[in-house]
Amino acid sequence: MAIATINPTTGEMLKTFEQITDAEVLVKLDLANRAFALYRQTSFSERSQWLQQAATILAQEKEDFAKLMTLEMGKPLKAAITEVEKCAAVCRYYAENAADFLADVTVQTDASHSFVSHQPLGIILAVMPWNFPFWQVFRFAAPALMAGNVGLLKHASNVPQCALAIEDIIRRAGFPQHVFQTLLISAAQVAPLMADERVKAATLTGSEKAGISLAVAASKEIKKTVLELGGSDPFIVLASADLNTAAATATTARMLNNGQSCIAAKRFILAEEIADEFEQMLLTKFQALKIGDPLEPDTDIGPLATPSIVQELEQQVKTAVQSGGKVLIGGHALTERPGNFFQPTIIIDIPVDAPIAKEEFFGPVALLFRVPDIDAAIALANNTPFGLGASAWTTNISEQKRLIAEIEAGAVFINSMVKSDPRLPFGGTKRSGYGRELSIQGLHEFINLKTVWIK
Ligand code: NAP
Repeated sequence: MAIATINPTTGEMLKTFEQITDAEVLVKLDLANRAFALYRQTSFSERSQWLQQAATILAQEKEDFAKLMTLEMGKPLKAAITEVEKCAAVCRYYAENAADFLADVTVQTDASHSFVSHQPLGIILAVMPWNFPFWQVFRFAAPALMAGNVGLLKHASNVPQCALAIEDIIRRAGFPQHVFQTLLISAAQVAPLMADERVKAATLTGSEKAGISLAVAASKEIKKTVLELGGSDPFIVLASADLNTAAATATTARMLNNGQSCIAAKRFILAEEIADEFEQMLLTKFQALKIGDPLEPDTDIGPLATPSIVQELEQQVKTAVQSGGKVLIGGHALTERPGNFFQPTIIIDIPVDAPIAKEEFFGPVALLFRVPDIDAAIALANNTPFGLGASAWTTNISEQKRLIAEIEAGAVFINSMVKSDPRLPFGGTKRSGYGRELSIQGLHEFINLKTVWIK
């Protein structure tokens, strides 16, 4: 895939970038390695000041960074601004809390003093997707840098300007040179990088295929990975739910980021008693969505990031219909205008065991299913290879307890949509990946938990 900015709203190629050579990668690795030797000796207070400064730059220039994201991958500008604000928040969160999270933990034993010390690993490689071009990177970079690690970023090939802007923010914030570098490299250059002794661990957010490829390369060298992969999150609505709030939230949860979010609600599992009413409410809300230029403030849905995502989505809709599904609204790409636009789509009646019912739809397509009771709802929610998040709507406390205990996912949100929050761990089970980002748990992924015993 060429490294380039292609505006998804118009299809226009705006800027191309030269991929760096393997020899140039080695130079950057050497710089990162030298940077680590000094950076690991800096204090929490210094790192914290630099990260606070990064937050200030993000807050002050949020409109510029947001426009860059919208230009490169098409998310509505208002959502892009919120994303930059969230990046500033995650920087502040770790700037304020990392020293406590990484303090020595004394453990009483028969030693004179025994404790657990948290030490950095070294160079961590981050392979990141285009869908949240700033947030995905900052939620890795803020804890990694506070822990004393240094970062190398291989960003998605369609967001090179975002990747370079992030490197620039971290440099301008005052961090020492080369503690965070963007590598404009292809996916094929990732495995050789993992094989280099100086790279200690890696994190990847993206598709299963990419995750497997990185994990295989890392395991050959016995290196740790964190994988945040796809999802087909259920959104369960039971009879006692507040339907108005649930339907409004369902629309946001499916359409956020033009439908291209790993934790978007993708399968709507409705109790029979409320299914007709909820389906009608969702239909009305989908009809009211404004599709258009993502730079316009009243646009709800912009273009998908690339033409191939549109093609794949259209093919999935076709397969769903061939499997017995019925399209209630939408179902096609918008061909009357340039760009990668796709109609908001609702599909009902797909047989639950059709292979397509278990796939991730990465765009504005909602699959609706009906179930007779909570047992069937939970069984259907778990009838997927993924296990990222789940949203479930009921005011019945015993139903809530069962959903929390029995849904196979990294997160269960009751009467709310699934979202990430710096204070809470984020990650998946099953084929959605392993390891956690954010919170104290995310910070602890890339450190050496060193046991110390003093006699
Ligand atoms: P993708 O193709 O896997 O790309 C993600 C990153 O991996 C890009 O930087 C890509 O580089 C790189 N890559 C691709 N193939 C690779 C390989 N064989 N070895 C090493 N790196 C490789 O993912 P996508 O389709 O753009 O992103 C959408 C997927 O990400 C969806 O499944 C979505 O659910 C998932 N996602 C998950 C989370 C989460 O937190 N769980 C968050 C966001 C998205 P190139 O661009 O150069 O190919």
